[in-house]
Amino acid sequence: MYPKVEINLAKIKDNAQRIVSLTKRNGINVWGVTKGVKGDPEVAKKMLEAGVRGLADSRIENLKRLSDLDTELMLLRSPMLSQVEQVIDYADISLNSELEVIKQLNQAAVKKEQIHKIILMVDLGDRREGVLPNNVLQIVKKIETLSNIKLVGLGTNLACFMGILPSKDKMKELIRLKDEVEKELNITLDMISGGNSSSLPLLLDDNYQAQINQLRIGETILLGREVPSGNAFPGTITNTVKLKAEIIELRQKPTSTKGQQGENAFGEKKEIIDKGVRQRAILAVGKQDIDPTGLIPSQDGIIIEGASSDHLIVDVTERENVVVGSILEFELNYPCLLRALTSPYVDVEYFNNNG
Ligand SMILES: *Cc1c(COP(=O)(O)O)cnc(C)c1O
Repeated sequence: MYPKVEINLAKIKDNAQRIVSLTKRNGINVWGVTKGVKGDPEVAKKMLEAGVRGLADSRIENLKRLSDLDTELMLLRSPMLSQVEQVIDYADISLNSELEVIKQLNQAAVKKEQIHKIILMVDLGDRREGVLPNNVLQIVKKIETLSNIKLVGLGTNLACFMGILPSKDKMKELIRLKDEVEKELNITLDMISGGNSSSLPLLLDDNYQAQINQLRIGETILLGREVPSGNAFPGTITNTVKLKAEIIELRQKPTSTKGQQGENAFGEKKEIIDKGVRQRAILAVGKQDIDPTGLIPSQDGIIIEGASSDHLIVDVTERENVVVGSILEFELNYPCLLRALTSPYVDVEYFNNNG
């Protein structure tokens, strides 16, 4: 069945091993982040075999898919108030930044007679989730009064919204806050969760002294790519997943066109570039399943022209032996992979070879 995503489990395991050994050198535990593959248990098992400390995902639905695996599960996105009970059931640890949510998690944990662990997120400049550094002490004092919540650490997330990059200074600030909290409240915080894949380049410097002890890694394990550049990360493999889609129309078409031009169905105004008559193929996959700007052809002679909801338009003039029914192959970037695996119209197939 097409479209189809092929996932190479052996390559993802190789990547996870590389990241685990790189971080171990620095005294850092890795939590394998599975949201890019919709919490796929097969992929998660490979991460665990490679030695990740636990599994993390932004969605409860994905953590549910992982609940049979023998490991700790972490919820990455601050819980919705409407989900606190499920969070207690399916997550051992959650990342939090709202006192009201933490209070309601506590109530749910009391009801279920459980202790729920949390990491308090601090916004060190990326302006997505997190309390501001000045407010950390104040909120920690309130958390410490809650009977069934155990604050196990501080965390931060960078490079996701404003593109503010992890740095030695940002990590120092997190450590400073940890020291302050420990001293002021006379508690120990075991987890200093320093970031995501974008923190890994720092570790390539042999002189780097990481004082953080946890990273949450998805993209560089799943796709072997450095964040945010998208370049190959040293020592990892990038062709871990492949999208295959089928040609449903193949025709010589002029690239110029006539008529009054408005915006297309997605509010974009396409520039008309006259490249003469070209061999155009339409593939049965679209924006519902992929992001055309996140596809990279893995065969020669394929140029992506764009997509609508259900059609991907490619130029195959330079490619031989293409007919209606031919299958073309692409690599996917992280947002595109995420979209493909959450589309009910895309099949998944697993491979397990290193070739
Ligand atoms: C998605 C996410 C991660 C993992 O990010 P990658 O770039 O895939 O490594 C880590 N932490 C949080 C809070 C996230 O939302």
